Amino acid sequence: MHVLMFFLDGVGLGSEDADRNPFFRAHLPALRTILGGELPHLRRRRIEAANGICLPLDANLGVPGLPQSGTGQTALFTGKNGARLAGKHFGPHPYSTLRPVIAEHNIFKQFLQVGKKPAFANVFPQRFFDYLKSHPTRTSVTTFSCMASGVPLRVYADLEAGNGISADITAEGWKTLGHPDAGIISPQEAGRRLVALAREFDFVLFEYWRTDHAGHAQSMTEAVEALERFDGLLDGVVGALDGAPITVVMTSDHGNIEDLSTKTHTRHPVPLVVAGKDAARFASALSGRRRRSSLCDVTPAIVEWISPHTPSHT
Ligand SMILES: [Zn+2]
Repeated sequence: MHVLMFFLDGVGLGSEDADRNPFFRAHLPALRTILGGELPHLRRRRIEAANGICLPLDANLGVPGLPQSGTGQTALFTGKNGARLAGKHFGPHPYSTLRPVIAEHNIFKQFLQVGKKPAFANVFPQRFFDYLKSHPTRTSVTTFSCMASGVPLRVYADLEAGNGISADITAEGWKTLGHPDAGIISPQEAGRRLVALAREFDFVLFEYWRTDHAGHAQSMTEAVEALERFDGLLDGVVGALDGAPITVVMTSDHGNIEDLSTKTHTRHPVPLVVAGKDAARFASALSGRRRRSSLCDVTPAIVEWISPHTPSHT
């Protein structure tokens, strides 16, 4: 079984209110189809449909204050409670004392240790690598995880070859990154490329941060556009799956975009959406771990799903 994972930064479960929550303003046919025509919100946290399920994950991790990306993504991508270990929510970059934890326990490394092939689908511009030379600790949890485990970070040549996806999905931003001739692709084409990667690799991650950006900007226009573009990608994914043994998993590190009445993160639960013919089985394996699932349960569940009964590296 392969997993195609979407990490959307700053997406929580909000109220069913189109004035605050762009999920109820945007046109999201692919996500709605996966969830049987519905979308989750604070009073409808669980959805079980024929094509997919949604369940809530706690992102507060037993720590007061507003969740942040450094500690939340540590929990999400290692299974270790980054906020508890750091004694606070911290971000956007990994908290210094968590770097060894991430290097040791990140999901990419866990797969490599059991002989599985992981990939990070995002493509990074040269500017990113230049910046890291002078700011080596300013990585995200995901890029640091790749660097610590030897998973290659994809570059412009991969984008041109169709072997990677731009962080903005369509690659239109590359015009301003020194590549005026970069080919723009549709969100659907990006989705098809991700499915092709997920056929080749056991675990493929794509990270989308425009959702968190739109939440901080409190911009309904930007938020709706970011969500609709992602939904187009999802449409391409669903159309390309064609019965392939690929489970699609989507989740986030903390709330933000679901409440545009505030520019900060929120303490809302985040949705975990699973699509694919085995979605219900995956979800019950995950939620069977604890009465109330949290970000910490995602990596162990994915590792067990792809590589059953391999003792996770803990
Ligand atoms: Zn943020």
